[in-house]
Amino acid sequence: PKYQSVALVAGVTGIVGNSLAEILPLPDTPGGPWKVYGVARRARPEWNADHPIEYIQCDLSDPHQTHSELSQLTDVTHIFYVTWASKPTEAENCEANGNMFRNLLDAVIPNAPNLQHICLQTGRKHYVGSFEMLGKVEPHEPPFHEDLPRLNVPNFYYTLEDILFEEVKKEGLTWSVHRPSVIFGFSPYSLMNIVGSLCVYAAICKHVGKKLRFLGSRGVWNGYWDASDADLIAEHEIWAAVDPYAKNEAFNCSNGDVYKWKHLWRVLAEQFDMEFEDFDDDDEGELRPSMEEMMKDKGPVWDEIVRENGLVPTKLEEIGNWWFVDVMFGVESSVDSMNKSKEHGFVGFRNSRTSFVTWIDKMKSYRLVP
Ligand code: NAD
Repeated sequence: PKYQSVALVAGVTGIVGNSLAEILPLPDTPGGPWKVYGVARRARPEWNADHPIEYIQCDLSDPHQTHSELSQLTDVTHIFYVTWASKPTEAENCEANGNMFRNLLDAVIPNAPNLQHICLQTGRKHYVGSFEMLGKVEPHEPPFHEDLPRLNVPNFYYTLEDILFEEVKKEGLTWSVHRPSVIFGFSPYSLMNIVGSLCVYAAICKHVGKKLRFLGSRGVWNGYWDASDADLIAEHEIWAAVDPYAKNEAFNCSNGDVYKWKHLWRVLAEQFDMEFEDFDDDDEGELRPSMEEMMKDKGPVWDEIVRENGLVPTKLEEIGNWWFVDVMFGVESSVDSMNKSKEHGFVGFRNSRTSFVTWIDKMKSYRLVP
């Protein structure tokens, strides 16, 4: 056959989905040559259009639509599940995300006889609790490792894992779970894109003549953090999809180094050719506004920046995920261990500073920020 493997990427316009869409079709990608189906809810955006994949617009929360669109994909060999829906409570997250995943598996598994492996992407909240429970449940102590037990509170990541385990057992498939930290990547459609959000924040500060001010606590400014480069996550997921030593395991997936926001803040300012405020020179201390509060009335400013610079039209509330930046800037330190991945043979890594700059460059080169 022309193709060795056939991927179905659920969430192909997302922050990791867009990287999978770029990397899977490359001639030297392990397991290839790959044919790639990519599913997302909205029409195909321009910035995703060059990837050589078959784009399928489908709402996975709709079981009928999902069945009619995905049951036809009889040649799928690997599923990459890199999507989610955000709901007000974790109970609703469990329900909605469980349904989306089940709808996809119900449509594909009975109709794809060559299906071998399912990659499920979850994340760091596996170890610290859902957004709703942050600060309300005792998290595990970092560095997080894969053998830590689940926290005793609802979490849609646990729901997704349980659905996965049930299906693969029934069907004799292999699986892998991937748990990234905060993701550095590219997608104007992502619900949680910290690099994109910070670029927009910097552009707004510069436009109104303000220094780049850090809106987290001193502890966050000085704390150790890790990140997960979206291309690295894609490589990790492809590794697990094809390498026999990676089967039926959950893996952390981070860059393999640590950084401090105080250092990346300087980098961000450099990239936008502006001055930044050193946290320690600023005596307002802990009384900082939230990002959400700061950005509440900045829609018209953003529209002006877009117009003046001839950027791809976006709405501030879509391209800036302020609630997410606020959550990230509320956690003093968060790091995992990549030992298990290395012990199983994955030695990929990224320099987080370089990764940060790379994705800022991509935001600029696609004319999303000035
Ligand atoms: P994302 O928000 O970047 O992208 C989601 C994708 O799914 C988009 O292509 C979107 O169009 C698509 N989508 C959304 N709803 C859909 C629906 N009903 N039907 C079809 N497609 C739909 O996704 P992400 O951030 O990569 O999230 C995947 C997982 O990774 C989630 O569990 C998330 O919690 C986790 N995670 C994300 C981050 C991060 O920084 N973004 C960090 C750690 C873990």
